[in-house]
Amino acid sequence: MFKKILIANRGEIALRVIRAAREMGIQSVAVHSTADSDAMHVRMADEAICIGPPPSTDSYLSIPAIISACEITGAEAIHPGYGFLSENAGFVQIVEDHGIKFIGPTAEHIRVMGDKITAIDTMKKLGVPCVPGSGGGVTSLEDAYRIGDEIGYPVIIKATAGGGGKGMKVATSRDDMKSAFQTARSEGKSNFGNDEVYIEKYLTTPRHIEIQVFGDGKGRAVHLGERDCSLQRRHQKVFEEAPGPAIDAETRARIGKVCADAVANIDYEGAGTIEFLYENGEFYFIEMNTRLQVEHPVTEAVFGVDLVREQINVAAGLPMSFQQDDLVVNGHAIEVRINAEKLPNFSPCPGKITQYHAPGGLGVRMDSALYDGYSIPPYYDSLIGKLIVHAPDRPAALARLQRALGELIVDGIDTTTPLFHALLAEKAVQTGDYNIHWLEHWLAEHT
Ligand code: ADP
Repeated sequence: MFKKILIANRGEIALRVIRAAREMGIQSVAVHSTADSDAMHVRMADEAICIGPPPSTDSYLSIPAIISACEITGAEAIHPGYGFLSENAGFVQIVEDHGIKFIGPTAEHIRVMGDKITAIDTMKKLGVPCVPGSGGGVTSLEDAYRIGDEIGYPVIIKATAGGGGKGMKVATSRDDMKSAFQTARSEGKSNFGNDEVYIEKYLTTPRHIEIQVFGDGKGRAVHLGERDCSLQRRHQKVFEEAPGPAIDAETRARIGKVCADAVANIDYEGAGTIEFLYENGEFYFIEMNTRLQVEHPVTEAVFGVDLVREQINVAAGLPMSFQQDDLVVNGHAIEVRINAEKLPNFSPCPGKITQYHAPGGLGVRMDSALYDGYSIPPYYDSLIGKLIVHAPDRPAALARLQRALGELIVDGIDTTTPLFHALLAEKAVQTGDYNIHWLEHWLAEHT
């Protein structure tokens, strides 16, 4: 087992990894920008190294600085968390070239899945159902029109390198194609340095269902059921749950096996998520994330596992601690994302926390790097906490969420907490009867 690992991240996810490492008797090294000198991950780790100025391009994304921090501290492995360098194949290659273990899949797997066209291609070959679409890059407007006519409108034009909901445009009819095609291309270019796009059938009422997979890198893999992340704003998740209200045990076992077999087949190592849209009983693959996801705690809750510990174990060459038959869903879990944002526009709201109180009690987990007097810097993601509840069934989990939200105090800034209070009063949220567009419609009506 490693003696020391470096966490190339900040915020709640850095704490998540430090906590797992400590329980495993592994020393942790935090890295931080000058803006984060007082951050909780710096305080909580065994060692901390400053790797640059506030902008993440000069610190959390600075590969030379992170490699140097490893060499100075003697860290043997790097956990990337999510975001930042977690899905950067070039980074993984450099890490491995320096004799440091990357806690996650290989550079090659990250590269294949990071390009949405090669990802779809690979998944198709592995027997995973995909959205009807162009099946490859579309370079000219003439081709775009032809494909639009073939698949039938509405269609969605997506940047091959896209992520975080950027670089996607819907064309509801032939008339929209030109502007949608051009906008998706230019967003791809400006956000990801790549203007390649592809076209898919736009599903009008799907749910977002994602399957958690885990592999040992040696041909064995399991699935840990699904998460339903249909409540989204601008293609970004705000409320996630496991199990999915619309998925029964038979469906879970069936799609789960397809996913576990697919990743076993390619010798995938560590945690991964295969994302689908789910409509009329059919699954349509949209992308694979080759990292731990923000919403992983709901899966940990219902399966009683520690995914970060498991990631570290397989990275160290140990076998997985569970097999498929050990993994049984127990109860229901919900996560809400507490962002430092001001409603109704969700504008970023950094600033000083004058008072912080985390909810507690049975079945409540608050993953957050906040503390009294902490100043949230303006440079990074607005996610400041994840409130996760676990209860015997969905109604009990909703009641527990409401109770826990009532205990949460974050004074000094605005947060997305009021949104969740309002959502819990909605019938659709209570019954779980919604699709990926529900929240946008609700927001349009209520703001
Ligand atoms: P990103 O990498 O930016 O997260 P995804 O491909 O995962 O992009 O899609 C994000 C969200 O966009 C999905 O959860 C869904 O809400 C919407 N979306 C993507 N593809 C389609 C599609 N073919 N039809 C309808 N909605 C889609």
